[in-house]
Amino acid sequence: MHLPPEDQQEVTSRTHKTTIHTSVLFNSQTKTFDSNISIEVDTVTGLIIRVYQRDDERIHSTPALAGDKSIIDLRHLTVLPGFVDAHTHAFLHSYLETPSLNQERDESFVERVVRATNHCRAALKAGYTTYRDLGTEGLSDADVGLRDAINRGIIPGPRMFVVTDPIASTGSYAVRYESRLNGAVAPQLSDTCDGVDGVMAGVRKRIGAGADVIKFYADYRRRQLRFPGQAWPGCLPILHPPGQGEKIPPWSMPANPARTMWSQAEMNAIVEEAHRARAPVAAHAIEGEAIIMASRAGVTSIEHGYLATPDAIKAMKENNVIYVPTLSVLEVEKGTIGDEGIAFAKKKVKAAYDAGVRLACGGDTGASPHGQNIREVEMMVDAGIPVQEALRGATLGGWEACGGDWCGRRFGWIAEGCAADLVGLVGDPRQGLECLRKVKFVMKDGRVWVRDGEWIE
Ligand SMILES: [Zn+2]
Repeated sequence: MHLPPEDQQEVTSRTHKTTIHTSVLFNSQTKTFDSNISIEVDTVTGLIIRVYQRDDERIHSTPALAGDKSIIDLRHLTVLPGFVDAHTHAFLHSYLETPSLNQERDESFVERVVRATNHCRAALKAGYTTYRDLGTEGLSDADVGLRDAINRGIIPGPRMFVVTDPIASTGSYAVRYESRLNGAVAPQLSDTCDGVDGVMAGVRKRIGAGADVIKFYADYRRRQLRFPGQAWPGCLPILHPPGQGEKIPPWSMPANPARTMWSQAEMNAIVEEAHRARAPVAAHAIEGEAIIMASRAGVTSIEHGYLATPDAIKAMKENNVIYVPTLSVLEVEKGTIGDEGIAFAKKKVKAAYDAGVRLACGGDTGASPHGQNIREVEMMVDAGIPVQEALRGATLGGWEACGGDWCGRRFGWIAEGCAADLVGLVGDPRQGLECLRKVKFVMKDGRVWVRDGEWIE
């Protein structure tokens, strides 16, 4: 709709106020469930304009409540700030359906984009109002267009913060294949750069391309072709790989371990340049060495960290780094790592929590199914994290991982000036986690998307 300027002024100057009444509201700052709070929302700006404690006697005597469209009564639900998934890939679908290489190489650009629109809708329906989307995995900067299509109101979906391509050093985060001489083509997964000047240029390119967050690979299975795995049907195994016959802890993969990809100076330069642009930095890191170096460089978050050593956990704590343990994706990898591997990763999360490391919930969603994002909260609680802490990680912790005030909008808690993102659940998460999947109400930026469990277009 294109209105002449004077009409536009009239539209924006009108008051558009909705009041939401809650009886149980999760406060992600205090990690408490507060009673009888009402929230006033400006539906034009999508912001909360007032939060107040209500005298519940008075509301019962308000006859207009049932018919008044400016009032939403959520007193029968538990209400939380909209969920934030701090580690997603909107363009991926579950690896249990299609392995990553086939998605990246064989699915068309159009199919991947169309699938992403479905993923965004499924996420919003599940109460996820924000995605920190950490890489298109082969679609270059397409995440910028997806983010903007949502921001322009063209398709429904979570508020997205995107990285475009992650940055990686030469010969590191890429699809590995043995038939290079035959001219096989695999999709590019990262923007390659090296050296202090090179990584600064890499960060500048990402910022220029529209990235909200800089992601870099601090370590990866970069020596994969030294002892290659069985990558295709009929491929013969390497007969005597390292680690054969040894008792190997899950995830250590001696034939194909994660190895650090940069010098300390390069990691420092990535963070320094990103911070100049006021962009947060997410570092993929599996092993202790890379976690320690990235933490010292001042990254915002460490992703995965499955082999975090006590020193690595200490480095995260000392440098105020957020840990995003991505437990959900391990269920997809269960065939390789087994229950033992999942239990091993859960112990790292508990150890980090006990050491006072800040947590954010991100499922590596995409590799695991969109719409099932809440699995990460369930698994964190299963790992021994108190439910209120896990819910903080899925709300306020997510905002912090998006860069806090650097990201340009406040969300993840309920206060004046924050985005009006709300989720209403049947039941109480303190009584049982099954209620986290009973999403009856979703509001994002002051607009209702799910009401009485029904999707509203
Ligand atoms: Zn990921």
